[in-house]
Amino acid sequence: MNFYVMTLFPGMINNAMSESITGRAIKAGHISVKAVNIRDFADNKHNHIDDYPYGGGAGMVMQAEPVYMCYRHICTQIQDSPPEDAKPLRVIYLTPQGRTFNQNMAEEYAHEDNLVFLCGHYEGIDERVIEEIVTDQVSIGDYVLTGGELAALVIMDAVSRFIPGVLNNCISAHKESFSDSLLEYPQYTRPENWRGKSVPPVLLSGHHRKLEEWYRRQSVIRTALMRPDLLEKADLTQEERELADRVVKYGREI
Ligand code: SAM
Repeated sequence: MNFYVMTLFPGMINNAMSESITGRAIKAGHISVKAVNIRDFADNKHNHIDDYPYGGGAGMVMQAEPVYMCYRHICTQIQDSPPEDAKPLRVIYLTPQGRTFNQNMAEEYAHEDNLVFLCGHYEGIDERVIEEIVTDQVSIGDYVLTGGELAALVIMDAVSRFIPGVLNNCISAHKESFSDSLLEYPQYTRPENWRGKSVPPVLLSGHHRKLEEWYRRQSVIRTALMRPDLLEKADLTQEERELADRVVKYGREI
């Protein structure tokens, strides 16, 4: 997976992505990250890339042309030697007005060979270049950030976890919260007793079937407690559905 990020702050992208699991994935060649500075495509001696909004109003708007030239630059890099079966390029504009990002979208994006992100700043970007180059408009939640970089980082991180080789355990990204519309069961590690609190005995039993049953039951309970809205789409047995209903009704396992 090759990530390209159109941004006014490439340092934010490079610094964050070069740490921890994504940093190791870059070194191992599982993913690549190229942050391209939109300001490099300014056509004036002061490198301005923004201007006042037509119609008045507060703040500045990023101009269409530098963004477009930055996009064309990235296209040339990608399409220098396109494979025979090259897919149309996916260009994601990070915006609070977009579709809210979720785990299914992360998994879907992970099937692309290349993903291009467009990070806005100030009041946003001239609508005409968004119409021209953007395929997806994505938000990371109902709040307004100062720029799209943190949102692009959130999405790249979540997508990377689905790229083979990025996580040590290749199945773990598919067994976590939100897979099957359930949250993950609680996790414990050593010591067995911590300040008077013991680990649930079943986790020490080594009994595979009992463990699987416990994981599943805890997932149902946890989802009913924390995110009952997810249960509608979850594939539950009659018994699990009744358990979930009781937990939702009484606020605990009965
Ligand atoms: N004036 C815009 C509006 O009201 O929709 C908000 C602009 S915001 C201050 C500047 C930039 O931050 C946006 O262009 C976008 O790239 C990014 N941004 C802000 N909130 C975001 C969110 N929740 N998800 C994704 N990107 C966001």
